[in-house]
Amino acid sequence: MDHYCVMGNPVEHSKSPWIHARFAALTGEPVAYGKRLIPLDGFAAGVRSFIAEGGKGCNITVPFKFQAASLVTRRSARAALADACNILSFQGDTIVGDNTDGIGFVVDIERNAGVPLAGCDLLLLGAGGAASGVLGPILERKPRRVVVANRTIANARALAVRHATLAQAGGVALEAVALDEVTGTFDVIANATASSMSGGGVPVDARVLKPGALACDMMYGPAAATFLEWARAHGAIGHDGLGMLVEQAAEAFLIWRGVRPPSAQVLAELRAEMAK
Ligand code: NAP
Repeated sequence: MDHYCVMGNPVEHSKSPWIHARFAALTGEPVAYGKRLIPLDGFAAGVRSFIAEGGKGCNITVPFKFQAASLVTRRSARAALADACNILSFQGDTIVGDNTDGIGFVVDIERNAGVPLAGCDLLLLGAGGAASGVLGPILERKPRRVVVANRTIANARALAVRHATLAQAGGVALEAVALDEVTGTFDVIANATASSMSGGGVPVDARVLKPGALACDMMYGPAAATFLEWARAHGAIGHDGLGMLVEQAAEAFLIWRGVRPPSAQVLAELRAEMAK
């Protein structure tokens, strides 16, 4: 068996072990995947201890994605642009960092939810590890306008500055604002803040929603319920982060094992499991 895990704090809610167990069963890959609660001041030690135990790689979740990007010895172009990693692969003494959150988000919105990002107006809430991972792949789809809104505006500005060249190359209007300064309406709203996870409520006014907009919370399970109800109550389509989770996991599995697992099947199974 090759050992992998997800590291985070909190991590108890994570469905990644369930997803990777199904990927392993369906592809026949000898993968064992667990979860590790890492102390907030102990990320590097947690990674090193897993390597010493023979771990082959891990996923990184809240709040360690930026620290992961600093820890790696090598990172992919998309992880460098995001300055955040959600997947590490251990190759001898080398720690390779990548970021599959963005491709997971884009595949989920375009293929699973059936909403094309090209030409749309998109509001990205948050400027943490998740928002950093998705912005590059969103810009590559060439939306018309992308507004990054965050509680701490300096973090939104830094994220927009890092992506300015990519936005310009695609002809995308990219702005950074504070959460209470968002103007206009949007076809797609992506909540990449930790507000649903912490019970902090919906971080933006419903005026931002175009009728029939897709309002996606990257959270899933009961913690996403408030956001999804808010979306439906204001004429939008609520969409949770479960599809993104499965799609980013499928990309991670492909990187680690060289085999693409059947993500649509596993997403359907996971939804059925969570509905029990
Ligand atoms: P993070 O790096 O800790 O960033 C948290 C972000 O949320 C920051 O922008 C922070 O703003 C903002 N924030 C925190 N509490 C808030 C509140 N009460 N109101 C408004 N904004 C608040 O976390 P992350 O890794 O980006 O994760 C964010 C969320 O996305 C989590 O719920 C995570 O589970 C989810 N996620 C899901 C997937 C998936 O596959 N479905 C993948 C990645 C992440 P400041 O800059 O002001 O601190």
